[in-house]
Amino acid sequence: MHTKPSSLSWRLYRASRVFVITTLLSLIGILVELSIFVLASSVILLTDLFHWAVDTVLEVVFLITLVLASKTGRRFPWSTIIIESSLTTLSCIIILGVYFYMFTGYLFSFMESASVSTQNYIPLVATITGGVLTLLAYITLTRSYKRYRIELLRVDSIHALVDVVAAVIASLGVVLTAYTRNTAIELLFTFILMLFVFHSMMEVFRNNIKTFTGGQLDAVLSMEIREKLEEEISRGINVVNVEARKLGSFYVVSVELAVDPDTTVLQIHRLRKRVVKVITGMSELIYHVDVKFNPKYKWEEKRNRKTPLHLKKHYKK
Ligand SMILES: [Zn+2]
Repeated sequence: MHTKPSSLSWRLYRASRVFVITTLLSLIGILVELSIFVLASSVILLTDLFHWAVDTVLEVVFLITLVLASKTGRRFPWSTIIIESSLTTLSCIIILGVYFYMFTGYLFSFMESASVSTQNYIPLVATITGGVLTLLAYITLTRSYKRYRIELLRVDSIHALVDVVAAVIASLGVVLTAYTRNTAIELLFTFILMLFVFHSMMEVFRNNIKTFTGGQLDAVLSMEIREKLEEEISRGINVVNVEARKLGSFYVVSVELAVDPDTTVLQIHRLRKRVVKVITGMSELIYHVDVKFNPKYKWEEKRNRKTPLHLKKHYKK
């Protein structure tokens, strides 16, 4: 299955290998931050650790999505996707709960002792190592995107770049807090870092909400597909409706065509194949294409039924 280089499933498979590397980098990051956190507890480091935890969940989601996608071809295993979404949502809520439990602990100690939690420069070891790991992930993802052209690699490379900035801010926060011993500075940097975590969380939840709600209609892509179809298929066939819906990182497209009632099954079969080929050729993120055929006269009948006059009658009843 993965034997033909440059085929979609081969590229998806290679991309999933890249996410194995980034997931490992994330896990190393968590271990480093956790061991430094045990040595030198700091609310800035806690927030950074929280960020690493959410991002690791995100990497695992991307990894699972690509492994499933490369294995199943164009048929998407919905039940697995739903289980996966529930698990990621659940793990994010648990991570969020643990973080806020520990964060309120810090808030109380701030109020009681009025001293900062970042007492020395030791947390720098964790934030700088984290920055280097993130930079490594960024380089790996950008290079792989150039080779395999899988959209998720690009999405994650942008995220990695944002996280390099987060690592710089965390390091700066540690230095300034340890130097000035000012609780306001420590809290300010903690809140800035929280914004980065919410950015990651939104990415996890955005994917999941769409899976549950059946996808969001993408008007631009629908229009592009319609135009492309009108160019590619013969003039005797009408494009009635095109709907491209985003599900997680992928698209599902449904097309409704009106054909001459005398069209043979063989012709319809060929037309369907051609339509699927044209649409899936437009983007590797288009996962499934549904093609519905209506005989032309029936379609016109249907349209006539929807005339305002008829609707009026209908409402009077
Ligand atoms: Zn992040």
